[in-house]
Amino acid sequence: MPALSRSASLDGPVGLDRPSLTQVLTEAGVPERQQRMRTSQIWGWLYKRGAPSYDAMTDLPASLRDALAVMLPWQRPVVSSLQNSADGTIKWLVRLADGREVEMVYIPEEDRAALCISTQVGCTLACTFCHTGTMKLVRNLTAGEIVEQVRLAKDTLADWDDRAPRKLTNIVVMGMGEPLFNYENLRAALRIAMDGEGIGISRRRVTLSTSGVVPRIAEAGADLRSRLAISLHAVTDDLRDDLVPINRKWPIAELLAACRAYPHDGRAITFEYVMLAGVNDSDADARALVGLLKGFPAKVNLIPFNPWPGSSYQCSSWRRIEAFAQILERAGHASPVRTPRGRDILAACGQLKTASERTRKTVAAGAA
Ligand code: SAH
Ligand code: SF4
Repeated sequence: MPALSRSASLDGPVGLDRPSLTQVLTEAGVPERQQRMRTSQIWGWLYKRGAPSYDAMTDLPASLRDALAVMLPWQRPVVSSLQNSADGTIKWLVRLADGREVEMVYIPEEDRAALCISTQVGCTLACTFCHTGTMKLVRNLTAGEIVEQVRLAKDTLADWDDRAPRKLTNIVVMGMGEPLFNYENLRAALRIAMDGEGIGISRRRVTLSTSGVVPRIAEAGADLRSRLAISLHAVTDDLRDDLVPINRKWPIAELLAACRAYPHDGRAITFEYVMLAGVNDSDADARALVGLLKGFPAKVNLIPFNPWPGSSYQCSSWRRIEAFAQILERAGHASPVRTPRGRDILAACGQLKTASERTRKTVAAGAA
């Protein structure tokens, strides 16, 4: 019984698609004519009203709530700490049922407010400039754990009132982990996030960032059609092999071919480019980037390198970043410089590494 084996994750009903939930209801003895209604009711409680437990689902019969609690045990992740930045950014540390932790970040802007969510504890990859890549503990998050991040953020933001303007308008999958190495769970979670009867954030407001898991890009295009962001960071395979080691498996030409084939609905695909002083930030690099992106609807997000304790790179100077951006702009590519947000709480891109692990390391260092 697949639905029951999934309950081992302690995610309760969160993250289950409608057919799986209906299957559980069948096993719980709900008569066939009620199954569809009960499924929608539970989805409504979870994704429109933010129910924290079965007990909160007051219009379900108590006997059904009791049966579900046995069949689909539900131990929600909890917010173990929350930091507010002076600029409105919020960073949460979320503790999962097994005690592991991930981070997520809320970034309000003038016309949108995005939640940056994680897909793995740590990351399977080890890009040299990224803090998450140095984490030792790695596991995939379940679909339920990915969706719960959105639910927890909406709790903090008090964003469950459908009549009020939304406080969370976008989802960016740019937190900890490589989303396309946890593809099945990510897909299940994003389908719920993008479903009108689920969280209801349109696919145009969901951005999936990948370091370049080429075979999965086509699948994501077929299954999800969300917006795509590619962590490019270098214009030659030699350099990209060093910075983003997955490039050794799927080099730049293959990556760009996958991007060309992606159904981007005429919109630009975003390329992320971290600005590392003296490493990838020369005028020649900018011109080579223009060459790579020729004939391609591409926008380049220039990300000032965010240092973290122990990192060995430096961020390019603002003059250098501006000069680089200008070459791209002249070639017709929008190239906004991403303003670092939440710097005071180490919430910026590539800085996510759970405090719990930092503390453990510090303790270990102190003891040595
Ligand atoms: N694993 C995915 C998504 C998470 S990383 C990916 O790599 O795309 C989100 C973005 O932050 C990526 O573009 C990543 O390369 C970038 N990044 C990582 N470390 C950074 C740092 N220290 N400073 C600036 N950007 C960084
Ligand atoms: Fe993983 Fe992305 Fe960081 Fe690379 S940049 S280590 S893929 S989270």
